[in-house]
Formats: sequence, C-alpha cells, structure tokens
Amino acid sequence: MIISGEEYVKRLKSYDREIYAKGEKVDFDHPNVKPVVNAIAYTYELAKKNDAYKPYSDLVGEEVNRLNYVNKTPEDLIARYDYQRELSLRLATCNYRCTGCDAINALYPATKALDERLGTDYHQRFLSLLKEIQKNDYACTAALTDTKGDRKKRPKEQREAYVHVVEKRDDGIVVSGAKIHQSGALAADVNFVLPTQTFKEGEEEFALAFAVLPEDEGVMYVLQNTGVQAKFREGGEFEMGNPKYGDRTTCMVIFDEVFIPWERVFVFEDLKAVRDVLTYFAISHRCAGAACKAGFIDSMTGAASLMLKANGLENVPILRQKLGEMVGVSEATYAIAIGAAAKGYDAKGSWQPNQLMANAGKIVGVEGFNKVIMHLADIAGGIPVTAPSEFDLKNEKLGKYLQNYLKASEDFTAEERLKIIKFIEFWVTSSHLLGAIHGGGSPAASIIFLQYLADLKSREEAVKNNLDL
Ligand SMILES: Cc1cc2nc3c(=O)[nH]c(=O)nc-3n(C[C@H](O)[C@H](O)[C@H](O)COP(=O)(O)OP(=O)(O)OC[C@H]3O[C@@H](n4cnc5c(N)ncnc54)[C@H](O)[C@@H]3O)c2cc1C
Repeated sequence: MIISGEEYVKRLKSYDREIYAKGEKVDFDHPNVKPVVNAIAYTYELAKKNDAYKPYSDLVGEEVNRLNYVNKTPEDLIARYDYQRELSLRLATCNYRCTGCDAINALYPATKALDERLGTDYHQRFLSLLKEIQKNDYACTAALTDTKGDRKKRPKEQREAYVHVVEKRDDGIVVSGAKIHQSGALAADVNFVLPTQTFKEGEEEFALAFAVLPEDEGVMYVLQNTGVQAKFREGGEFEMGNPKYGDRTTCMVIFDEVFIPWERVFVFEDLKAVRDVLTYFAISHRCAGAACKAGFIDSMTGAASLMLKANGLENVPILRQKLGEMVGVSEATYAIAIGAAAKGYDAKGSWQPNQLMANAGKIVGVEGFNKVIMHLADIAGGIPVTAPSEFDLKNEKLGKYLQNYLKASEDFTAEERLKIIKFIEFWVTSSHLLGAIHGGGSPAASIIFLQYLADLKSREEAVKNNLDL
C-alpha cells in the first residue's frame, strides 16, 4: 500500500510514545519533533508522485514504498539512489527511512542464510513483519550504534553499554540497554534494532537483531540538543535555516526491560549471523549514503548559487568556478553509488551493491562533502555566522535600518537574502558535517573494509610484469 503523508502523520499521532526534549516529555507537535515528522511525511508525498519510487512487491501483491522493498536488480538499487538523492535535495535533511531500507535488505539475505545453516525459521518471521510493513506502508528506521562505554573494554566487562538480553522466556526475550545517535527513530512505525559490531565467542548475549513496535513498553526516546534545536524552540519563521524539515535529528533510544516476542527476533545469540547482518547493512548504508550526500551537495550548490546572485557576485569567474566544482563532486559521489549498483551481486535473492565501491563512496563522499561546505562558506562570506536575526529585521525600530543594511542585489529583498543566509548558516553549522563523517560508520571503518577487500596482489603483479621484476 502507498499512503499519503497526512495518513502517516495521523497514524503516528495515535502512538503513545515517550519522547523527551530538553528534559521534558513532549509530543509530535513539539518544535524539535515536528520537522522530523514533516520530513518523513514528505517521503510519502514524493513516492506518490513518481512510479519508480513505488515498485510492485510480489510478497504482498501491490505497490510498496521503494524504501520498504527488497532490491532484486541493479535497476532497483539505482531507483532507490535516485529517490534518496532527490529527498536529500528537497529536504536538506535526513529522510529518516533509509536505515530501515538498509535493515530490510540486510535481514533478508542474512536470515535466509541463517535458516539454511541451522534449519530455523528466522526468515519466515522476518517476512511476516516485512509483509505488515509493506501492506501498511510503515516508516522504518534501524538502530545499531550502542553507547559502547569505555572503548577499550569488551561488552561483557560493561554489559549496560550494549543492548543485551536480560531474560529469555518461552514467548520471547527481554532486552535492556540503549542505542545512541538514532536518526528519526522517534517518528518511525518500526525500529529495527541491529548489532553495533561483531562479537566473539562468549559474547552471544549481545548477538541480537529484532524489531520494536509502538506498543512495546519501556522504550524512551531522548532528543539531541544542538544550536539548531534551540533555534527551533526559539521560534520564528525562517531563523532556524531549514524551517520545514529541520536538522538531522537524532535521539538516544533507551530500552528498559523491553519484552520482544520471538516472532520479532531475527538473530538470537548467533555470531555468524551478526557478522552477515552487519556487513550487508554497512555496505548498503554507505552506498545509499553516497547518493544521499550527492543530494545534500546539490542543495548546498543551489544555496551557493542563490547567495552569489543575492550578493551581486554571480558573474565573478573565480566564484562561479566553485559552483562547477560542487556539481562535479555531487555527480562523482552519485556515480559511485550507481556504479556500485551496476557492479553489485546477488545475495540469496536480493541485489546488493558492490562492496569495494560502496566503501569508496563513503570515503569520496566525506571528502567531497567537506570540500563543498568549504566552498559554500567561502562563497557566502562571513555573514551566515554574523548576521542578526529575523526578529531584528522585523523589529519596529531596527527594521528600517536592517532592511537597508542587509540588502545587497536589487533582485532580492533584505528578507529574501536573510533567508538564504540562514539556510547557509544551517548547512555549515548544523549536524550535517558530523553526520556525513560518522553516519554509516566513521571513515576508519570503511578504510578497514577497503584494505581487507582490496586485491593488492593483482596490482602488484601488474607492476612486476611491467618492470620485468
Ligand atoms: C548525525 C548522525 C546520525 C546517525 N544516525 C544513526 C542511525 O540512524 N543509526 C545508527 O545506528 N547510528 C547512527 N549514527 C551513528 C554512527 O554510525 C556512529 O557515529 C559511528 O559509527 C561512530 O560511532 P561513535 O559516534 O560512537 O564514535 P566513537 O565510537 O566514539 O569513535 C570516535 C572515533 O574513534 C574511532 N574509533 C573508535 N573505536 C576505535 C578503535 N577501537 N580503534 C580505532 N579507532 C576507533 C572511530 O572510528 C571514530 O573516528 C549517526 C551518527 C551521526 C553523527
């Protein structure tokens, strides 16, 4: 089923969810929560407009959202990346459903392999939930990152730092712990909970994958608090930079003895399955992240181009050249995702991106993102971090001065220019840069993968042949 953004919001508001912001329990209309809901609602609206974003699913015999679909072909992956890129451009923030898509496309092959190895029924359990997800057009997210405590210690030395089983019952398991940095989890219908890392023998109690639904008791969501979030609480029309869709909003998800029935447990105390889930997820997310970054870079490029015009600098060659470079970075990052889709592989009936290319997408994407933020900051001048507020512009006494002093090109009013300035402030000072660096795993994780996967031998051989060594 394909539902509208409005239907998603109505369903979400029927949930009795424990969300906290700045020390207070809040609802879905809170200024820090609403932009997340708006962003997810937009994913529904965009899917309605484009057939490529709503493929036909054999599993349920109807059209489903692209982000709830198990990819079967390179074209499926490419359509997913196009959807993500467009969402990033239009939202200028996270679409929040992408980790859910990665979880679906990781659990599908991993649970199949697990059943083939052990004769269990994890895949059927997963398919039963997936059917519900597709039939109801649920918004899904995935929570991997544990709080991890002292990074030198193993999980057994600090159980609370990792989500773990506190009780095993006939009808399910009881889990405790917390996941940190969770994008959009508070506004999802389904939260997949996956492992943060691989585990060694003896650490089986942490080797888990399961799903949390709105009716589960003991789950709390604690919102991030950044300068952008404070600005949203301060109010205004555009002072916060990205007024409709907000910052890349994350939260800590706390599990206080949460009961999960067996039908929603997809990996239980199995070290090999954890490794499979993690590998599929990480590759899928890093590759989608490359397409997503391309969309973010497109948004920054649009902002940079508008700023040049608002300042009357649009004909300065050295500044225009930076726009060309920004476009080049975006296309290169996107092309890596498309290449990884084309050069991908079949895993138990699902189409997965090329592993080397996906990890390269993360590295190139982060470097490109950095470069583009620098270009944007360069083009904009210092004003994104020094400008007065929209409230000053609207102040009875100050207004007439600021209307004058904040205006530049004749083609833009002072207010229009200030909107662009605030949008650029949002891009350069919000959670985006750290999100680009660490989302999907820090760059070091990708580099380790690349070192492990790289065929250095054949490269060495080619050089040896060339040099007659
Ligand atoms: C905006 C944003 C959104 C995110 N969204 C999600 C989400 O939706 N779901 C989710 O599960 N996660 C999410 N993440 C989490 C992301 O995956 C993590 O930030 C990332 O894996 C790094 O973990 P950490 O932040 O805990 O860093 P830390 O573990 O504290 O690491 C800090 C640095 O030290 C390095 N490091 C750590 N341990 C070692 C070691 N033993 N040896 C060498 N180097 C080491 C890391 O590579 C990193 O560079 C998000 C993060 C951000 C910033």
